Amino acid sequence: MIDNVSEIKDCYGCGMCAVVCPQHIIDIRLNSDGFYEPHIDSLNKCVHCKLCRDVCSWLHDDLALPTGNNPISSYAAWSIDKETRDKCSSGGIAFDLGKFLLSHGYKVCGVRYNIEQNRAEHYVATTIEELSPSIGSKYIQSYTVDGFKDANRNNKYLITGTPCQIDSFRRYIQKFRCENNFILVDFFCHGVPSMSIWHKYIAWAEKKVGRLNYVSWRNKVSGWHDSWAMTLKGEKTNYSNSHNVPTKGKDNFLISKLSQGDMFYRLFLSDSCLGKSCYERCKFKGRHSSADIRIGDLWGKTYKENEEGISAAIAFTTRGNETLNQCGCALVAHPFEVVAEGQMPVAPTKPAYYERLRQCLANPNKTIEDADLIVKKAQQRERLKRIAKNPIAAAKGYMARLIKKILK
Ligand SMILES: Cc1cc2nc3c(=O)[nH]c(=O)nc-3n(C[C@H](O)[C@H](O)[C@H](O)COP(=O)(O)OP(=O)(O)OC[C@H]3O[C@@H](n4cnc5c(N)ncnc54)[C@H](O)[C@@H]3O)c2cc1C
Repeated sequence: MIDNVSEIKDCYGCGMCAVVCPQHIIDIRLNSDGFYEPHIDSLNKCVHCKLCRDVCSWLHDDLALPTGNNPISSYAAWSIDKETRDKCSSGGIAFDLGKFLLSHGYKVCGVRYNIEQNRAEHYVATTIEELSPSIGSKYIQSYTVDGFKDANRNNKYLITGTPCQIDSFRRYIQKFRCENNFILVDFFCHGVPSMSIWHKYIAWAEKKVGRLNYVSWRNKVSGWHDSWAMTLKGEKTNYSNSHNVPTKGKDNFLISKLSQGDMFYRLFLSDSCLGKSCYERCKFKGRHSSADIRIGDLWGKTYKENEEGISAAIAFTTRGNETLNQCGCALVAHPFEVVAEGQMPVAPTKPAYYERLRQCLANPNKTIEDADLIVKKAQQRERLKRIAKNPIAAAKGYMARLIKKILK
């Protein structure tokens, strides 16, 4: 039997195997589909300790539940600091938790965007200034290894990450019996898109604005419900914002919104190019979590008029619940179903054009426009099929949308 991760392909790419390996022989690299995966070059140095397999969430069917798992408490949550709430993806709960725990002797391991390497990466923050780059979701897979290695098991840490990263992290701290030093936070997770999309998207953006020096994934200038917007800035200083979006007095930003056809978001949110494990092995939807706290966007009817942003926050442990209740954010208790309304109930399925899109993404001569066209055409075909099936309902829907647009 193989007792390391050398043959594992298309896993969650959480990097925990590389963190734990006593021989330091495991590397995490992007595979040809644009997802992180372990590689071992010096297999002969493996000491067969199996630690890499023990902490691997992908190799286990069950969840590594926190010790002292309790009945859940679920809330709508938001930061009472307007500036925090404006900048964060939903209500700013992740930042408030980090700020509170920093003031109580914890360090925070979150995700920032590394503009030199064009990647999202885990890092450790020890001050509020250092915590700032963790604000905002980076909707690409993060490289965890350096950040997770820096989270010393003997100190106290808040760790945030995708549910699969957090499940492996829970295995790691249970294995080394240091669970009490950690508070783990995950989020309702859509899945992660291929980094090939991201690289092609950057190439498209850099043609417009020059070498990028700023990237953010959400922008609440026209409200939270319309906040799926890439905001990018490059070295060219004479770029004028062709999308005609208000930019709060900031010049030279390229703002590309999903509602106006942004290609990154169309590809990501249509579930067209997620990791194989996101389709086939995601065991973390709904309330399935190994974290102390799960956060997310509280979409759904209850707060549908809110345009500042509301976070969903679910505590699975007493520690998680106490931390939420002490961190200074506004909290309103709701049943889980209210808090989780609008989240994906099960893992997505691969679309029929998945293989064609995969090949397009793997081809260095193809652009983000080529990839986007595959998805756009498929979506148009689906729309036409729906219209042909029920033309009256389609006409009614069209009229309703038109009236809404005129009234706006
Ligand atoms: C890939 C991805 C998919 C998501 N899918 C959903 C979804 O389907 N439904 C939903 O409600 N919410 C989803 N979220 C979470 C959502 O975007 C917000 O993080 C959440 O609403 C909390 O809001 P906030 O205002 O507190 O957080 P934010 O200000 O967005 O804080 C984000 C927190 O997440 C961490 N983080 C940022 N980027 C990454 C990353 N790439 N990998 C791991 N951790 C990261 C940061 O360290 C920070 O602590 C997703 C996030 C990501 C990164």
